[in-house]
Amino acid sequence: MKILADYHTHTKYSHGKGTIEENVQVAISKGIEVLGISDHGYQHLTYGIKKDDIFKMREEVDYLNEKYKDKIKILLGVECNILDDKGNIDINEKMRGVLDYVMAGYHFGSMPKNIRGLFNHVDNYIIRSSKSKDYNTLAVINAMKNNDIFVITHPGDKGDVYIEEIAKVAKETKTRLEINSSHRFLNASQLKEIKNIGNTFIVGSDAHISENVGNFTKALETIKESDLDLSLIENIKF
Ligand SMILES: [Zn+2]
Ligand SMILES: [Zn+2]
Repeated sequence: MKILADYHTHTKYSHGKGTIEENVQVAISKGIEVLGISDHGYQHLTYGIKKDDIFKMREEVDYLNEKYKDKIKILLGVECNILDDKGNIDINEKMRGVLDYVMAGYHFGSMPKNIRGLFNHVDNYIIRSSKSKDYNTLAVINAMKNNDIFVITHPGDKGDVYIEEIAKVAKETKTRLEINSSHRFLNASQLKEIKNIGNTFIVGSDAHISENVGNFTKALETIKESDLDLSLIENIKF
């Protein structure tokens, strides 16, 4: 298998352990053609990036692209937080202007926009009611409809969703769904449910230490178990 790209890697700018350059060096050693740096959006209580760091990161990525230009292409992205059922995500125009792509996912620690959002965190964490499943699904669907999102990260992780509804909108809006190798979402049963819808997929390492850049081991197990058509996955080649 050849890894064309790993778009989901974290660095010290959020709560990863490595630097951007360390992620780059591991990616080169594994023969990866495109590396995406995608730290957490800033509206997260504990591990989001500092808002202004994105501009520093842009400079660093530009410098490293020049330094390693014969070996790899580096892209700057962000993993935004999906903040509410309207599909708001934590990004602004100025930030978007310096990014190559935007990913978005649901995280417990994201700052709720209102009391309903706060209650939904609690519901997802403790109760896991059908109300939260409705809310989470709507949040992801509206995020895809209202923003230009490249990949929805780990759909269904930390908050259950109706994955078939999400996959249909992903197809309509041309948003990729992630098969995340750290969180194991999408999982095999979700993939079995949606594998005939015709939306596309991305595998992500979600590496928080540089050594794990391009580590797709668990995702590949999930894919095998689900018997997904491999041509629907954009960033690996067999
Ligand atoms: Zn995430
Ligand atoms: Zn992540």
